Amino acid sequence: MQTKQLIGGELVDGAGEALAVLDPATGDEVTGIAEASEEQIEAAVAAADEAFGSWSRTTPAERAGHLLALADAIEANVEELAELESIDCGKPLASARDDEMPLSIDVFRFMAGAARTMTGSAAGEYVEGHTSMIRRDPIGPVASIAPWNYPLMMAAWKLAAPLAAGCTVVLKPSEITPLSTLRLAEIMNGIFPKGVVNVISGRGQTIGDKLINSPQVEGISITGSPATGMAAMRAASQKIRHVHLELGGKAPVIVFDDADLDAVVDTIRGGSYFNAGQDCAQPCRIMASNAIYDKLVADTANAVSSIKIGGQREDGVEMGPVISAAQRERVSGFVERARGSAEIVTGGTNGNGAGFFYQPTVVANVDNDAEIACQEVFGPVVSISRFSDAEDALNWANASSYGLASSVWTKDVGRAMAVSSRLRYGFTWVNTHGVGTPEMPWAAMKGSGTGCDMSVYALDAYTAIRHVMVAHG
Ligand code: NAD
Repeated sequence: MQTKQLIGGELVDGAGEALAVLDPATGDEVTGIAEASEEQIEAAVAAADEAFGSWSRTTPAERAGHLLALADAIEANVEELAELESIDCGKPLASARDDEMPLSIDVFRFMAGAARTMTGSAAGEYVEGHTSMIRRDPIGPVASIAPWNYPLMMAAWKLAAPLAAGCTVVLKPSEITPLSTLRLAEIMNGIFPKGVVNVISGRGQTIGDKLINSPQVEGISITGSPATGMAAMRAASQKIRHVHLELGGKAPVIVFDDADLDAVVDTIRGGSYFNAGQDCAQPCRIMASNAIYDKLVADTANAVSSIKIGGQREDGVEMGPVISAAQRERVSGFVERARGSAEIVTGGTNGNGAGFFYQPTVVANVDNDAEIACQEVFGPVVSISRFSDAEDALNWANASSYGLASSVWTKDVGRAMAVSSRLRYGFTWVNTHGVGTPEMPWAAMKGSGTGCDMSVYALDAYTAIRHVMVAHG
């Protein structure tokens, strides 16, 4: 198993404290990985800073070539990477291999193309005797920080766009799930010039904090919790830097009387419990119109109670454990606090075995301003509330501190357009939920972050608009 860090083109053992990596399906230790030391963090950032000079001057076609080679190499090693991912996260092997890997690979392929689309918007004479041009240039070394829910896919989002833009990167995976990213580091070392990509591992509040505060870092890109986003903002207040944040979410799912309820239930069963609900776009806050509320609760409880939970390779397994004992305690805390005022219609207890399993749970009769309706649980839990007036549903949804994913379910096109145009969320699906593609932005508003991952707009976070003016005389 590859457990070394990638620093300046060398794979080296971490010189810091050893951290245990657990299999969440059993609670057993898989391996121990030594964190980066302070000197190693500095060396990684220095390597990225040095490599920026040449990488930022490569042609888009050259950068595209490297990104395409990386996509091919991931594809060639997909079984091994999926296996590491499923052990590290406890998730079903088929999910890691068939759902996540193709998207991770495609993001590198998409960004290879996107690198070649970057243009300035104007060249002309705006002052007599002078020609102006607008350039879009890479900002410098970027500190990229990834979470534990989809480790390799999130690493792909945090790597592909800055590299396409011409930035160099120091990437830190979550200390809970470093395995696939460290193997990726080894693969990338055979593809990118020395120092262009560096990977260090370790905890957030020590290693991550030191990385984002490093003086040569010009851009910070975080996918994680709001608290980590705030740490990035603080780092940017110490030295002005670009900050791009994709943080938590609490997706409202607004279901009108005329919605296709079977489709809603299928989407909840499949989407809300995918990855044990640890998904920033999880359809988790169901807001049901009064007329269909009872049927939606009954059908959802019935469908969700049949989800098969189990270990990575169990036959027919649909859902694995949550990531850690602490995460399970957090999830169960939300459900226990909701018991007094709401109704647990299915689930609400730990699963069997030594792993960190939690039963797929549906909480109904939830007030629209209850904690479980408003705070991100990040586990296999869905809340269902009622509304009688569309305006109320919209206002409750928009009052959320989060602004990532949302969906609207109705056959009335006019109503779908009117509601989706007023939702203050980075993305809104109509009559579906959770479908992503690299061409389209994964965009954040309000407390869910700034800017977006994926799509050509992702390049904005890693490039600066510049004006060059040439006097004729
Ligand atoms: P987290 O914020 O605890 O950790 C994310 C990463 O940040 C880890 O690598 C961690 O080590 C690092 N980190 C923590 N504190 C830090 C600090 N002070 N300085 C620098 N780095 C620090 O989040 P998590 O628990 O790993 O992931 C779950 C969160 O991520 C949820 O809120 C989820 O919604 C969010 N998420 C968002 C998206 C999105 O696209 N918006 C995608 C996936 C996950």
